[in-house]
Amino acid sequence: MYNAVIGFPRVGKLRELKFASEKYFRGEVSKTELKKTALEIRTENWKRQKEYGIHYISSNDFSYYDGMLDTAVLLNAVPECYKKLHLDELDTYFAMARGYQGEAGDVPALAMKKWFNTNYHYMVPELDASTKIALSGTKPFDEFLEAKEQGLLTKPVIIGPFTFLKLARYQARTKAADFTKDICAAYGTILTKFQELGAEWVQFDEPALVTDMTKDDINLAENLYNGILQQKGSVKVLLQTYFGDIRDCYETVLKLDFDGIGLDFIEGRKTMELVKQYGFPKEKVLFAGIINGKNIWKSNYKKVIEQIKEIKEYAENVVLSTSCSLLHVPYTLAYEEKLNPKVKQYFAFAVEKLLELQELSVLTECDDYNNEKECVNNQQVFEQERLYQDIEVKNQVANLSEDMFVRTPERKQRQEIQKKTFGLPSLPTTTIGSFPQTQEVKRNRTNYKRGNIDKAAYDKQVFAFIKECIEKQEEIGIDVLVHGEYERNDMVEFFGENLAGYVFTEKAWVQSYGTRCVKPPIIFGDIKRIRPITVEYSAYAQSLTDKPVKGMLTGPVTILNWSFPREDISLKEMAYQIGIAIREEVLDLEKAGISIIQIDEAALKEKLPIRKSDWYCEYLEWAIPAFRLCHSGVKPETQIHTHMCYSEFNDIIHDIDNMDADVISFEASRSKLTILDAIQESGFETEVGPGVYDIHSPRVPSVDEIVEALQKMLTKIDKNKLWVNPDCGLKTRGIPETDASLKNMVEAARRVRSQLSC
Ligand code: GLN
Ligand code: ZN
Repeated sequence: MYNAVIGFPRVGKLRELKFASEKYFRGEVSKTELKKTALEIRTENWKRQKEYGIHYISSNDFSYYDGMLDTAVLLNAVPECYKKLHLDELDTYFAMARGYQGEAGDVPALAMKKWFNTNYHYMVPELDASTKIALSGTKPFDEFLEAKEQGLLTKPVIIGPFTFLKLARYQARTKAADFTKDICAAYGTILTKFQELGAEWVQFDEPALVTDMTKDDINLAENLYNGILQQKGSVKVLLQTYFGDIRDCYETVLKLDFDGIGLDFIEGRKTMELVKQYGFPKEKVLFAGIINGKNIWKSNYKKVIEQIKEIKEYAENVVLSTSCSLLHVPYTLAYEEKLNPKVKQYFAFAVEKLLELQELSVLTECDDYNNEKECVNNQQVFEQERLYQDIEVKNQVANLSEDMFVRTPERKQRQEIQKKTFGLPSLPTTTIGSFPQTQEVKRNRTNYKRGNIDKAAYDKQVFAFIKECIEKQEEIGIDVLVHGEYERNDMVEFFGENLAGYVFTEKAWVQSYGTRCVKPPIIFGDIKRIRPITVEYSAYAQSLTDKPVKGMLTGPVTILNWSFPREDISLKEMAYQIGIAIREEVLDLEKAGISIIQIDEAALKEKLPIRKSDWYCEYLEWAIPAFRLCHSGVKPETQIHTHMCYSEFNDIIHDIDNMDADVISFEASRSKLTILDAIQESGFETEVGPGVYDIHSPRVPSVDEIVEALQKMLTKIDKNKLWVNPDCGLKTRGIPETDASLKNMVEAARRVRSQLSC
């Protein structure tokens, strides 16, 4: 059986591209050196896939920064402001990715957005009246030829026109339809070119087909491909979809003149059903995405083979493929030296997934596959007793009663009690939690991690930072203080380290955007809190002041969303397990005298399902209760805060309110504040702290500016419900601008407050 890979990780096995690019940005290496690193990465990726006998290997899956950005440049969708810099091709590209400030001019970067339901971010192409879509670059052709010279006939991959147009941002009253004619011509030319170069297959990635599609969307996709496929000549075209099923357009797609269709059998809940119901044309090839491209677990061979057999009852030509690009998993397990072999045997990163494809291609052809060595070995992993199972935790989750999810008394009553307890002024000021992580703070952590100092010495330093931080906030005059989060640099890893069931990798990096990679921890077993996590830091901070100090925790949904989850139990069960652990921490904080506790849910929206019809049944139905589970046990006078790093939650505003926090802070200064209308209209009960200044830039906001922002907020929000805080944590900022900004914030709150009372 043939096999295929949709795309391979492109930052290099040890993040070589990241380091080379960052050096290039700092002027430490030349463009030639950067290009050399890029070539080495592509070459190695191809070589590896060839070694594992992959039949359909992709080219043009490499990117210096992002595939959407590559496509925008390829289609000449480069906004004037970047062209005007008159930089060369690569530097113009980087200017779009990162912004440019220098001799040639001063332009901001394109916007960046989350790529469907992943933690990867793409650059948003900008189209306006002056955009003339036309084939203008050579990257896909160059890389195809490069592979050809290395003896490989690859299938070039390009983001398809529908996804491109759906994700682009339209300026100056333009719309997708204005560009369809030109885009058809451009993609047609791409196909012609590939035909000339001797390509057999070209892959168009169309993840946007798995979203909720309107009639107009379906028409658009149909028109685009009718136009493009007329020009395909002898090249075969693979329509590649992923991240879900294409239930809204399956029949339409079958009728189009594609030679292959790639379907996701992992995340596409309805994919099998669609194939069964509508069949699959025998002249087309079905690229069946059964090897999970998003998670790090080994495939269960027996199950995969059975699934292939089932698919083959409906489709004649089936190719075994990954469910999406392998870009979303780490490169290889080979560098993980510290993982317990009993744990490691369960994992397959990108390279190991190649082996799975290879072995499965052979096994599916064997009648007696059950007795083949590869299958027997694979089954052994799944049949043995697994480490870190905790029956107590399982029972605890199974026996959670309704009242564990409901805090009493109801919020309005609590808010009254809390007003009396805390006696805070109106428009109370606070921050989101972290204070600048200075060189000193980082050095302390590194020294501890490297074993240069012991835990006692480390904590002594942390306590000193906390003391300084509390004194500073008192001096500035903030009302609700924080301890500064000097003991952590990561919102999830820090908690994971104190939870049984978590395992950590050394080199398992995954690209998040551009040169930024993340190393998500892995939920391997049942989660249980091993020891109090933050209590001593918060209690110490509280001992230094009469003002309330907020305890600072990460919420269960965020911890889950920023980890690789298990596949043997449900997301809901994991969220509840983590919820119970955080609940224990919340109650311990309360016992230690912490009267305000913030539970951050920075990533709550991240895994909201792509289709609206799945929002509740697949996600919100357990995600919101998991949060409530954390805090339902506290006293009425204990105030629960939460924080989100974005404000686009208009669509789920009732669910956010249903988290039943007393106060929520969120990002607001860069957004258009439509959320304030939604808050007003929905009768939102939670008190709110829309960020009054942007912490992503070192700029110090003036008092007047903040006063103005607050006044605007007060036109929509009850003065008894408004808090004053920055957008997010301050850990990436420097001390001088942080002090200055916070002083201005406090002054602005005082000014507006005094206007309120008169
Ligand atoms: N409490 C965290 C901080 O202040 C929140 C970070 C975040 O929202 N990403 O850093
Ligand atoms: Zn934030």
